[in-house]
This record gives sequence, C-alpha cells and structure tokens, in this order.
Amino acid sequence: MSSIPLGPGAEFDIIRRILEGAEPPGPEIAVASGDDCALLRAEDFRYLAVTVDLTVEGAHFLPDWGTPELVGGRAVRASVSDLAAMAAVPLGVLVALNVPGDSEARLAEQVGAGCLNAAAALGAPLIGGDLSRGGGALALDVTALGLVERPLLRSGARPDDELWVTGQLGAAAAAVGAWKAGEPVPEEWSERFWCPQPRLVEARWLSDHGATAGIDLSDGLVADAGHIAAASDLRIEIDWEEVPAATGVDPELALTGGEDYELLVAAPDGIFGAEQVSEFERTFGIPLTRVGRAVKGVGVRVFRDGKKVKLDSSGHDHFQAG
Ligand SMILES: [Mg+2]
Repeated sequence: MSSIPLGPGAEFDIIRRILEGAEPPGPEIAVASGDDCALLRAEDFRYLAVTVDLTVEGAHFLPDWGTPELVGGRAVRASVSDLAAMAAVPLGVLVALNVPGDSEARLAEQVGAGCLNAAAALGAPLIGGDLSRGGGALALDVTALGLVERPLLRSGARPDDELWVTGQLGAAAAAVGAWKAGEPVPEEWSERFWCPQPRLVEARWLSDHGATAGIDLSDGLVADAGHIAAASDLRIEIDWEEVPAATGVDPELALTGGEDYELLVAAPDGIFGAEQVSEFERTFGIPLTRVGRAVKGVGVRVFRDGKKVKLDSSGHDHFQAG
C-alpha cells in the first residue's frame, strides 16, 4: 500500500502520504484504496463494493445555487456513481449529515428528503446514517454499497485499448463557473450539476460487451484518465476534437471540468464498432464516443489537430496551489 496508483495532484499526494504507513489489508479485501470502490470478497464469486463520498458546503456547493433537497440528492448520486464506475449493482446507501449550528430542524429534513428521493430513484435504499448539528457548514458523507461479479477496475486497461466516454461533458463545471461569476445558468447545466445520472446500467452493458477498465468522471476527463493511466501503468492519449462537449460548453471545459459523473472506459481496439455504438445509443439515449487510446508510457496527453496541447488545468484538486 506504499504507493497507491492515483494520478498526479496535490490532493492525491496527501492521500499517498496518509496511506504510506497503512497496514496491508487482509485477504478478504480484494481491492483497497486507489479505485472507485473498495472490493470485499463476498459469496458466490461476487464482491461487495464499498465507497464513500463527502459533500461540504463551501467546497462543493454554495447554498444559493440550489435547494437543500438538491444538495441531498446530488450527494447520493455522486456516491452511487462510484458503484457505477465498478459496474456494481447498488444495495443501499448510508448518509451521515451535519447541519450548521444555527440551522433549524427543517434543513436536515429537507436534505434528508433529497437523499431519500435520489436513493429510491437509483434503487439504492437508505439503510442507515447519522445526524448532527454544529459548526458553520452543511456537510454530508454518503457511503454506498453494491454487489459486483466482474468489477470494472481502473487497472484493467492495456496498450492499444480504445478509450470511450458516455454522454456529454462539461455542463456541471459550466454551471459552477456561471454561478461563481453571477451569470445566468441554463437549466440544462444546472440539472447536470444537481442531478447527475450514475451510469449504472450503462456500465454493466459496457462491461458485458468487453470494456476492461473504467472510472466515473468526477474530477474531469483529463484528471480521471490520469487515474486509469496510473492504475494501468500506461499513457492515455485524448483527441481534443473527439471529446463530446455539452451544449454551449467551452470544449476545454469538457476536458478539464469535473462532476459530470459520466463514465470513461477502456476496451480492446475494435470491440465497440458502429453496431455496438448504435445499440448503446439506442438503448440508453446517450452518446458513446471514442475519445482516445492507451499507449505505452505514463500520464495523459491531449492532442489537437495532431499536436500535443497543454491545458490550463488538469481537473479539480482540493489542494491545488493558487
Ligand atoms: Mg470515482
């Protein structure tokens, strides 16, 4: 556990330092820190997938961006998205919620209602939690549990694999940018930020049809590709022109903006041909787009018109300087 295979970034350096002295997990743990979920061996050749995701007022959202119900729903959706990243079927979620010391009971109830609605919509019932009041910020931590037989790991990509993304990217980051700038936020962008759709069935389809590695896009396409590159010990090359940007979104934001919760998967060259792509798009009503490839090397490179480009930001990092 001395060096977990995460991509570059100050946030991940801190995680690496924290885990430096960690005891190696027992044989019941098939996958520990470094993927979208930890995997515990369960009966019948299956794994219990476990993940936790923290949402903090001020770090992830501001109260005037949306209602408390939306805050609760988004937190559950973001956590369940990590189950989708492993192609797991949800079992349930647990929600630990803190509301500010000066808040009324009603606020906790509203956040809780949002959690409950999202949990029901995703087939991941609320099975436990904790509630407290104090401090100055709302925070909630959602643990999600799922079952998976053939997990889609970050480490499964091989050189010459193709890289594919579901849906369209950049709208959630565009919404955040507009809120921060005090600009009007189109409904479509706001919806993408507050109500992301964990790609649970899509992930299982992709896995069943030959995808060999996967991650959900929480930090941004380039940053999350970096995690697959690190875990699979290879380089990922992304073609700028191929990245499917959401309507009205700056193409660069589609590469670097986080919180879309779409999937990035790797699959052997040629596995997803025109027929598979059109079946996917017909079945799920969202695009499946080839955005790049895996090659020998390290890290992530982005190409535009065949030339390597340098991006301003490589994704969301809570501890990035500046
Ligand atoms: Mg993830």
